[in-house]
Amino acid sequence: MSALFDLTGRCAAVTGAGRGLGRAVALGLAGAGADLVLLGRPGSQTSTEKEIRDLGRDVEVVEVDMADHEAVQRVGAEVAARREVEVLVNNAGIIDREDSVDVEAEAWQRVIDVNLTGLFLLSQRFGAAMLERGHGKVVNIASLLTFQGGIRVASYAASKHGVAGVTKALANEWASRGVQVNAIAPGYMVTDNTTALREDPERSQAILERIPAGRWGSAEDIAGAAVFLSSRASDYVNGHVLVVDGGWMAR
Ligand code: NAP
Repeated sequence: MSALFDLTGRCAAVTGAGRGLGRAVALGLAGAGADLVLLGRPGSQTSTEKEIRDLGRDVEVVEVDMADHEAVQRVGAEVAARREVEVLVNNAGIIDREDSVDVEAEAWQRVIDVNLTGLFLLSQRFGAAMLERGHGKVVNIASLLTFQGGIRVASYAASKHGVAGVTKALANEWASRGVQVNAIAPGYMVTDNTTALREDPERSQAILERIPAGRWGSAEDIAGAAVFLSSRASDYVNGHVLVVDGGWMAR
């Protein structure tokens, strides 16, 4: 059975792997045997690079700002041309917390640029190579705000609803050609993304009380789902958004 989840000899690319969920996903994939390409901003992934090397896996760091669409397309095409990347995890993401009436166009656009447009453009570049080979996996990091509106996070909710749309659209086009496109929707996880919520005693308590599992998630909680969606075990899973939320959505 473990062979189904074995990633030995496979190359996986993860965006934003220097910290938080991206780091945990990259280490999880490395633990399952994958070699890694870490895509992110200069200097931000050095410690994860070392941790993966310590696991005995091959690891390469590639600099790219996911808000820079020209760079995303150029770097994506360049890496996809010289490496057989079989798994792409689109993890990099930002959040802007403010009242909707105060959101300026620039701030709105930045969230859409990183969370949605960058994700789509990188999927295009790696996806084209996967389609040529006839196999590959794209795993997008969505959110509970793929399903819900959230509070004071309109641009983020819009971007994450969009991630589900892109996931399903690409899955529809690529499933018959051997490429599975799916997403993970993490619940409330302890990372820098949720610092503001955890520092607000009332929000923090209200969130905790709604989670059936009775705790916030850790970054490591999504590693198993990432390995599943990156491995042969998910070969007949297409266009799915897998919720990993301690039961939040079941409530
Ligand atoms: P985080 O700790 O803030 O990490 C965000 C990651 O994205 C960092 O590695 C960051 O790199 C990278 N990133 C941001 N902007 C970038 C850019 N322009 N170019 C390249 N990389 C960029 O947050 P996280 O919780 O791990 O978030 C990871 C993903 O999970 C995001 O898509 C987020 O929306 C999603 N998510 C998180 C939660 C949660 O509860 N934490 C829940 C649902 C979904 P730098 O170090 O260079 O800034």
